[in-house]
Amino acid sequence: MKKVSIIVPTYNEEESLPHFYEEMCKVIDSLSNEYDFEMLFINDGSKDNTLNILDQLRKKDPRVNYIDMSRNFGKEIGMLAGFDYVRGNCAITIDADLQEPPSVIPEMLRKWEDGYDDVFGKRRLREQSVFKKSTSKLFHEIIRKLSDIEVDSESGDFRLLDRKCIEALKTLRETQRYTKGMYSWIGFNKTYVEYDISKRVAGKTKWNFRKLLHLAVNGITSHSVMPLKLASLIGVVTSFVAFIYMIYIIIKAIIYGDPVAGFPTLMTVILFLGGFILLALGIIGEYLGRIFVETKRRPPYFVNSINGCNPMDFKNN
Ligand code: UDP
Ligand code: MG
Repeated sequence: MKKVSIIVPTYNEEESLPHFYEEMCKVIDSLSNEYDFEMLFINDGSKDNTLNILDQLRKKDPRVNYIDMSRNFGKEIGMLAGFDYVRGNCAITIDADLQEPPSVIPEMLRKWEDGYDDVFGKRRLREQSVFKKSTSKLFHEIIRKLSDIEVDSESGDFRLLDRKCIEALKTLRETQRYTKGMYSWIGFNKTYVEYDISKRVAGKTKWNFRKLLHLAVNGITSHSVMPLKLASLIGVVTSFVAFIYMIYIIIKAIIYGDPVAGFPTLMTVILFLGGFILLALGIIGEYLGRIFVETKRRPPYFVNSINGCNPMDFKNN
């Protein structure tokens, strides 16, 4: 029987977890004579009762597995830990808050059986604020323009991945991750299923504007060097304009003499160029910072326990 793993990144989800488990069980119980299921929860350094709940679920149901991270590493790293530890022939990543309905999993599995390697969920309707919707749309538009990867603004991390894709994703070990771009970057045979996104079943979102902005910058800088190219392009254009202007000034000075004037012009040019130089430096700095972090070659995460046991015990066996 084929094994199907469900990867669930969880951070402070004590309220959603019981609902999630119940809903998920409905789906996997109905498929239990076709597939062998495993649930892998990644406890991403939760500060509430999440770990205890996972432990209780594990005691009750051997299909439940959990990895307790040594601290909060963020959802992107949490998913990497999931990819590292799952054993299934395919894995489905899903959030713990039931915004993504487990009921479309059978359809995903059918598409997988049809030979697709990456079946992603596409949102039909988004119950989100206009602000979040439009910034998300803008960001995806920018990333599409800047890099050659195709990222769909209506798709998220809810997807089924074949073993091939999991093994590919495991080799991408950068710590500054934008997993949505990676799915696209690795390629393979993709298709989608549509679903309706719902409100969080309980608890509240862990994303704030700062975190989303960080993810957006990660997304752009880890998949494209276009901002650097843009900076040098603007540099070329300004020096060209400056050169023409210089010739104009010299000729004007020769013909009409050189009375000291033009303070406003001078100020404008200095401020504009100064601002642009700082911006270009900032862009370079953004990339430099990322290079610095990656050259340390630190492992992306550490594991505190696996199913309540010390991870070192697993290494020795
Ligand atoms: N999550 C995580 N680590 C974090 C933040 C979030 O593992 O640092 C998990 C969270 O428990 C949830 C999923 O990532 O299962 C998506 O988070 P959330 O629902 O808060 O994001 P949203 O759906 O609002 O974008
Ligand atoms: Mg959510």
